[in-house]
Amino acid sequence: MFRSLHMKLTLILLLLITSLMAVVGAFLTTSVSSFYINAFYQQMDDVFGSDREEFVSSLRQEAAQEDGAELIGEILKNNAASLGIDYRTRNYFVLDGITGSYLGGSADASVLPREQSANLLTARNAVLQRDETTVGDGSDITADYMDLAVPVLGGDNAYIIYIVDNKDTISDLNGQLFFIIMQALIIGLLISVLLSFLLSKTMVGPIEKLTAGAERVAAGDFGSALPVESTDEIGILTGTFNEMAGVLQSTLAAMENERNKLDTLFLHMTDGVVAFDHTGKLIHCNPAAKTMLQREVGGGCTYEELFGDLRPFGEILSLQRPDHVEEERTVGDRTLEVYLASFSDREQGGVLVLLHDVTEQHRNEERRKEFVANVSHELRTPLTNVRSYAETLRDAQGDIPQETAQNFLDIIITETDRMTHIVQDLLTLSRLDAGNAELVLSRFPFGEAIESVVRANALNARQRGHQLVYDPPESLPLVVGDRSRLEQVMMNIIGNAVKYTPDGGHIRVTAGSTEDTVWMDVCDDGIGIPEKDRERIFERFYRVDKARSRESGGTGLGLSIAREIVQRHNGTIALAPHEGPGTTVRMTLPISQSRPAAC
Ligand code: ADP
Repeated sequence: MFRSLHMKLTLILLLLITSLMAVVGAFLTTSVSSFYINAFYQQMDDVFGSDREEFVSSLRQEAAQEDGAELIGEILKNNAASLGIDYRTRNYFVLDGITGSYLGGSADASVLPREQSANLLTARNAVLQRDETTVGDGSDITADYMDLAVPVLGGDNAYIIYIVDNKDTISDLNGQLFFIIMQALIIGLLISVLLSFLLSKTMVGPIEKLTAGAERVAAGDFGSALPVESTDEIGILTGTFNEMAGVLQSTLAAMENERNKLDTLFLHMTDGVVAFDHTGKLIHCNPAAKTMLQREVGGGCTYEELFGDLRPFGEILSLQRPDHVEEERTVGDRTLEVYLASFSDREQGGVLVLLHDVTEQHRNEERRKEFVANVSHELRTPLTNVRSYAETLRDAQGDIPQETAQNFLDIIITETDRMTHIVQDLLTLSRLDAGNAELVLSRFPFGEAIESVVRANALNARQRGHQLVYDPPESLPLVVGDRSRLEQVMMNIIGNAVKYTPDGGHIRVTAGSTEDTVWMDVCDDGIGIPEKDRERIFERFYRVDKARSRESGGTGLGLSIAREIVQRHNGTIALAPHEGPGTTVRMTLPISQSRPAAC
């Protein structure tokens, strides 16, 4: 309750007025007392002072008389007005100079102060020493009376004139003053309450409005600016507050925007992002990270559970930017590259983990190495053959039968053809890879193309005792495609069937169409392809039986080229299910090419 500014203001004003009144009261009462005491002694001095030598000597003369005390009393009575004797608060007494006993006065002895006054003692000492000049005239402001004792020596007689004021006048005056001060205090207090109310209206009111505005802003409501109602400090503060709220709003909007961008980025990025706070508790994990880690990653997960086996949390947290740690982890059949770094060294900091799936990269690297090794191997074998036969011919220097020499030269030519074949295939593949091999599209009869390829293989098949049959359907539509490349594909499939079927086999070519596709099946009863190799025969240089393939002039690139060409026509080529010994290869193509060919 006393914490509100309004209450504090009221209290301050109350204290201020009370203390002001207390100081004024104390000052006034002290001043009045001092003034009254000073006036008393001034008055006494006017009567008994050195200027009134005549009056004092008349007192002495009377004192020398036998009834001196009465005579002195008479004189004092006559001078009562100049002594300010009012018979109530101020009285005079005539005392015996030696004993100090009451001899007479304006009041009876009971009015005399009960305790012996210091002034009376001084006067009595003066009497004893017969020193009439000493007059007891001092009084303490704190004493409850003021007095004057004057020794009067006349002949053998000695008296003391004792004038006492019981300060009732001062007390009355002070009482009235106190009453006035109390009245002023009450009025002051009322004024202070009123003032504090007005002040709180003019000063605290705007501050309260500002506080309410600040609370609204803190709650995220930037809707309305506070009205600036004055040009004083509060008005300036309100204006500055409005500006600050504006800046805060735009800063928050910018931050929100940035956060949304980051959220979207984290949501859709293919790399995994996992963040932990400075205690190692999970604060963020994007969908890619959950997929990569192949486990449930809930809010209660910690760094220790997910990555504690790679590096201790403390070590990563103490890393200074831009330092980071790279680790590799295998999850199932995937290889992940894990980057660990701290994102801030303050309280709000923590550890950020980036996951990058490098499985494909590793596989591609493997494939590349394998490919280079395969190319080198494929070229080295014919080159070695060419070199050795050529060397033999050179070293023989004609000492070799004509027939053998002819045979050697035939081998050299065959091996050279083989190398040319390999290089041509590689060139075709690299053009297809690079997207340089433009398709020359035309609309042509699909069935006619199959027939011409079957015809081209007929002689070869006959030589090997195969039965090569083509069963054309009643009708096949025209298709859009690069005829010569598609015939190259058909040539490869039918050629393989001829090659990989032992002599005297049966090869059957069938075709058909659906609403928007055509297909061709080449089915043989040859050696077939084992289950484990079926997935891989479309890979470059992959051959089930290397020796047999090479023997029959194969490079291991035919089916991979075929697949590239078919894919660029948006078609498919695959092994079809086959009953009994042998193989069935199916090629499917769209009738028209509506979209650009995919690579
Ligand atoms: P190649 O030049 O060796 O024939 P391909 O890429 O055309 O290369 O074929 C890849 C491999 O697939 C061949 O080496 C062979 O082992 C296997 N293959 C392809 N067609 C057949 C088939 N009809 N019957 C059996 N094996 C086949």
